[in-house]
Amino acid sequence: MTSPNPLLADTDLPDFAAIKAAHVVPAIEEAIEQHRAAIAQITEEQADDFGSVILAAERADFLLSRTWSPVGHLAGVADTPELREAHASAQALMTSYLMEAGQNRAHHDAVARVAARPDFAGLPPAQKRAVDLALRAFRLAGVALEGEARQRFLDIGVALSDLSTRFGNAVLDATEAWSEHVTDEAALAGVPESDKAILAAYAQEKGLPGWLITLRQPSVLAILLHADDRALRERVYRAHNTRASDQSDDRSHDNSDRIEQIMALRHEAAQILGFNDSAAHSLETKMAADADEALAFLDDLARRARPVGEKELEEARAFAAEHFGLTELYPWDLSYVAEAMRRTLHGVDQEALKAYFPLPRVLAGTQKLIERLFDVRLVERSGVSTWHPDVLFYDVQDASGEVVAGVYLDLFARAGKRGGAWMDVCRARFRDADAFHRPIAYLTTNFAPPAGDRPSLVTHNDVVTLFHEFGHVLHHLLTEVDLPSVGGISGVEWDAVELPSQFMENFAWEKDTLIGLSGHVDTGEPLPEPLFDRLLAARQFQAGLAILRQIEFATFDLTLHRDYHPAQGARVIETLERVRAAVAVVRPPEWNRFAHAFSHIFAGGYAAGYYSYLWAELLSADAFEIFSHADLPGGGASAFRREILAAGASRPAADNFRAFAGRAPEVDALLRSRGLAA
Ligand SMILES: [Zn+2]
Repeated sequence: MTSPNPLLADTDLPDFAAIKAAHVVPAIEEAIEQHRAAIAQITEEQADDFGSVILAAERADFLLSRTWSPVGHLAGVADTPELREAHASAQALMTSYLMEAGQNRAHHDAVARVAARPDFAGLPPAQKRAVDLALRAFRLAGVALEGEARQRFLDIGVALSDLSTRFGNAVLDATEAWSEHVTDEAALAGVPESDKAILAAYAQEKGLPGWLITLRQPSVLAILLHADDRALRERVYRAHNTRASDQSDDRSHDNSDRIEQIMALRHEAAQILGFNDSAAHSLETKMAADADEALAFLDDLARRARPVGEKELEEARAFAAEHFGLTELYPWDLSYVAEAMRRTLHGVDQEALKAYFPLPRVLAGTQKLIERLFDVRLVERSGVSTWHPDVLFYDVQDASGEVVAGVYLDLFARAGKRGGAWMDVCRARFRDADAFHRPIAYLTTNFAPPAGDRPSLVTHNDVVTLFHEFGHVLHHLLTEVDLPSVGGISGVEWDAVELPSQFMENFAWEKDTLIGLSGHVDTGEPLPEPLFDRLLAARQFQAGLAILRQIEFATFDLTLHRDYHPAQGARVIETLERVRAAVAVVRPPEWNRFAHAFSHIFAGGYAAGYYSYLWAELLSADAFEIFSHADLPGGGASAFRREILAAGASRPAADNFRAFAGRAPEVDALLRSRGLAA
């Protein structure tokens, strides 16, 4: 190759427009070689000072991720067959290299020498924390293991990764394996036209006339929420809740054995590392001290939410009796009745609402909100090299006008772009010996693109999403930590990393902010207050039942991992039943096999960590209330910026929270924000 590889160029921003699939593998190979050489130099020098060991490794990591980040990003937003193939090859190289690097004992020993120096205690907190986290990562990667234990630990890692993939595939296959073909439209009475269009598209996919009911999420929701035919709801509920299990009509995807193997191997791996159980292993890197603390939190929540949930169920029963003549409510009736209640009591026409949220207005309002809260300015910069003409780039200026950070906004759905919304790191903030690198982030959403000369109109839910992702972005961009490994979102505990994002979500439910950024696409008229009030009331509808379901899943997950015993096996059904007896207001039928499709914990990263959703909400709700009362020195937002956003992982999340709030988190704010407070 004669022209230089843009993925290896030392520039302020990646030259996205110049990156081709053919650049990917050579760049990653080169970057990995450079990283390996840098680490080898660290270990050969036998140094023990922070600069030669830690800073040098941070520099190597920074350069590797500078090359890798655009590759991973492009695979998500600009998919082509060539790029997908190049990305897969590069990812395989990265995975195997990172595994090797995590096991590098000489590198571990070098970091340990830094920690053993007499002057270690006198290092700035962020530097000490970077060393501590590096040592912990080595320990959890099994660097200290010898002989048989070392090999066994590595084998378990490979086996678990394979089992997770097979668990997830079984869920996908079981989801695709079931369907019910409908040719008589009357069978779909109650289902809205937009949902029927989805079912019709499923039928077309298979070359069938009419409609195809499947177990994909939109189809399951369409039937369980809307179908008047009770027997149809029951069939879909049963098929969906026995997916990939021994209770399914089709047992070929049964995950029972895989769950047993996964649980056994997780327990063994945890014990090899010296943990009592795999819950303790998982909690080692989280903010909650241990499984007992997280369970006590869930218990407390359940106790307070149960009376509310019971009352909501009674109301649903009364509504069902009055409107549908149902004397008994089965699990396949609950969503249907709830949806009818929601429409009757709090009906909000989401389509009509969208007219109040043209994207340019929403963006301008978001910008203003961020500027008001955090005393920075977001200034659009044109001429930045991107992967698509719709992509925007903003410079972030501090109060003095200096550019301190930047963010790419890629907001519209299009072909070749992964669904959903997310934030990712492009460049970390890094103050190296003679260079300063500014933090750069990507913010990606899938909003409806503009149609003709009409601007994109977004839903209220989209506004919530935009604020959420901006929370992550601000966490990264407003960091004042100079070391990439503990700056921004990097190194932050899993159960605390959603604090800034969920904190920002609250503003989408704040009357002044939301009405302030609204403006009808035709008239410019702001969102009328009664509409806002209905929106807010709908948010808290059946809040008790909703939170009890989350508590049930989270408690099941933690208990399953904490109480595993090799002689007794996983005891999935038994554990689930016990948890439901303690938590649930609505008892699912005994053939319900929810766990067999619980991919979050068996195929994703949430093992003994599903509680993190509620834990982070505990932090964000509490922080937001404190912020709203704003009796903090310098105002709530500046304290939030200083103690949470700027501090990143330079301190444990619990310390950040305490520095902001002056106390440990308390659960009451969460109950209030969910509308559950007595
Ligand atoms: Zn998030």
